[in-house]
Amino acid sequence: MERSFAGRRALVTGAGKGIGRDTAKALFASGAQVVAVSRTQEDLVSLAQECPGIETLCVDLGDWEATERALSTIGPVDLLVNNAGVALLQPFLEVTKEACDRSFDVNFRSVVQVSQMVAQGLIARGAPGAIVNVSSQASQRAVKDHAIYCSTKGAMDMLTKVMALELGPHKIRVNTVNPTVVMTAMGRANWSDAQKAESMLSRIPLGKFAGELRRWRTW
Ligand code: NAP
Repeated sequence: MERSFAGRRALVTGAGKGIGRDTAKALFASGAQVVAVSRTQEDLVSLAQECPGIETLCVDLGDWEATERALSTIGPVDLLVNNAGVALLQPFLEVTKEACDRSFDVNFRSVVQVSQMVAQGLIARGAPGAIVNVSSQASQRAVKDHAIYCSTKGAMDMLTKVMALELGPHKIRVNTVNPTVVMTAMGRANWSDAQKAESMLSRIPLGKFAGELRRWRTW
């Protein structure tokens, strides 16, 4: 379905790589004015070369104060995709404070912060808007070594429901998408091991992960 986002301004977090980058490019191709937010400047430079006119903003969304400074002058935003995330995998008994804090700061707390800023702007303008939170299938299924990652995404799912409840009356829609494994940098880092991948692939009818062009599982 062709859809035009002309006249809408969209902010995509984690737009440097993977799902966020493709989302930013798709919105840009559909006519949206796109603000791409990510952590690595080179990724944003190459994205701006691919999509001339795209706005970029380099910030570590795990840093509350830096994010507040960076986004304070961002201007009106109609559509927000909270996509930035990290997957720091550890067996439950070895989970560290650092991994726990970092995961929640990036995957959950930044979603609260950026969404507040965008929603406050929409409400002040009396404009309708939409927020999409990129969660994961891991929000609902236990995955080995994913205790903290699964928990951040479970928290995101519930956050989304309450945001939808409270922001709906302001004409702001809030939803999650919950993908399975996607072969991005994150997906490759965590699912390239053939034996580990098989446990997941065996439950995917197509026999391949999203974003994989070549692997078709043989039954
Ligand atoms: P990815 O390939 O690792 O890309 C993530 C992007 O987010 C990168 O550009 C990264 O920048 C950026 N980012 C990470 N931490 C950030 C921070 N603190 N501040 C600003 N930007 C930050 O990951 P992906 O696979 O596209 O995943 C995108 C989203 O989908 C995540 O929320 C992930 O949990 C979710 N998801 C992924 C899968 C999967 O299998 N890939 C499945 C379900 C859900 P740097 O590289 O510079 O850090």
